Amino acid sequence: MGGKRRKRTKIIRVKPKLPKTFECPRCGKVSISVKIKDNVATITCGSCGLYTEIEVPPVFDEANAYSKFIDMYLEGRLQIKERTNENTEEENEIEGESEEIPHGQVE
Ligand SMILES: [Zn+2]
Repeated sequence: MGGKRRKRTKIIRVKPKLPKTFECPRCGKVSISVKIKDNVATITCGSCGLYTEIEVPPVFDEANAYSKFIDMYLEGRLQIKERTNENTEEENEIEGESEEIPHGQVE
């Protein structure tokens, strides 16, 4: 058996160089944005309002800061500051509940 065929499986993945948005561990949406300034990464979720700041080494980029944030979040040692503006309205009303109770008993 000769003639080994060289299989060239070329998987071309179009990867964005540096994704600026990451998945939020709380709401699951890809709406986390990371900004680094003065060794402090500011992490905000544009969806659920999660907001926190973590210290990062100068070599960290956004992706590094994000993974550190995830670690800290999962370990529960993250101070999460909410960024909700007037979101205190609670809607506990259940709509669409019909009160049609079939009568099976005839007295
Ligand atoms: Zn979120």
